[in-house]
Amino acid sequence: MEVLLDGKVVRNAIAAKLSAEIAKLGKKPTLAIIQVGDDERSSVYIGQKKIFGEKIGCSVDHVRFASSVPENEIVGKITELNRDERVHGIIVQLPLPSGFDEKKITEAIDPKKDVDGLHSENMRRLEEDRGGGFVPATAKGVLSLLDFYKISIKGKKAAVIGRSRLVGRPVALLLAHRGASVTVCHRGTKDVPAETRKADIFVAAAGHPALVTNDFVRPGQVVIDVGITKRGDKIVGDVDFEAVSGVVSAITPVPGGIGPLTVVSLFENLLIAYQEEKGLK
Ligand code: NAD
Repeated sequence: MEVLLDGKVVRNAIAAKLSAEIAKLGKKPTLAIIQVGDDERSSVYIGQKKIFGEKIGCSVDHVRFASSVPENEIVGKITELNRDERVHGIIVQLPLPSGFDEKKITEAIDPKKDVDGLHSENMRRLEEDRGGGFVPATAKGVLSLLDFYKISIKGKKAAVIGRSRLVGRPVALLLAHRGASVTVCHRGTKDVPAETRKADIFVAAAGHPALVTNDFVRPGQVVIDVGITKRGDKIVGDVDFEAVSGVVSAITPVPGGIGPLTVVSLFENLLIAYQEEKGLK
């Protein structure tokens, strides 16, 4: 490995710029985070977003519902937040407990406040490369990391493992819009390693620990590990870092890779929502 792609360094650089821009506003961009139930990992992620957001000068409201709440009460709260001028961004922490209609709930968010980029209006914008709208934070973070390390995308071959709405799909779309030829691998792909070895840029977003072994990579590649799985008290990615880092040119660690960038990207989106609402953009 020649380069360790350090997400914390990139996060800090973006956070410094964001804090400076927010300080100039004189007002705090405000994010509302809706949590349903008390999933422990969701609570940790929300805590991280609240600490980070407040550190860079935003307000973060944590709106909690018990998992027994009727769905229309959540939709009602979202409708209220859509109208609330004090609130610029609204996200629903996923996954929701079973039985809730994730699509119906995310569709209730005003697309102009949908800073997680999950509303169909924002998804369509991304698919059609129309610009504007909001790009899901993790995918945005992957591109910020590549840009920070000046890894060119245009004309490159890229492979993405995973095609979820939240991660794999938006990553593949963003890479394609920036001029890469993208192969998307998923559970139905016959020979995933044969596909990923062809890539110059390889993004793993499967949620399957140590899936990516030496067989999946080749020298010269850039490998981005988006996977986050809790193993005992350790967080592990999709890539067998020990083995793969000895082969490829550049690689992200887990933790400390895309995770920190997901949080900062969300607040980049919040600042855009604020600026657009105030006609500053
Ligand atoms: P998901 O379960 O919705 O999607 C996983 C995708 O990977 C699916 O398309 C599936 O077909 C594919 N896949 C799974 N196992 C595979 C295999 N063995 N071979 C080929 N394809 C396979 O998950 P998600 O929400 O997209 O999240 C993916 C991972 O990214 C998870 O580990 C999640 O925790 C992590 N994540 C990290 C961040 C971050 O900030 N770093 C943010 C969001 C999600």
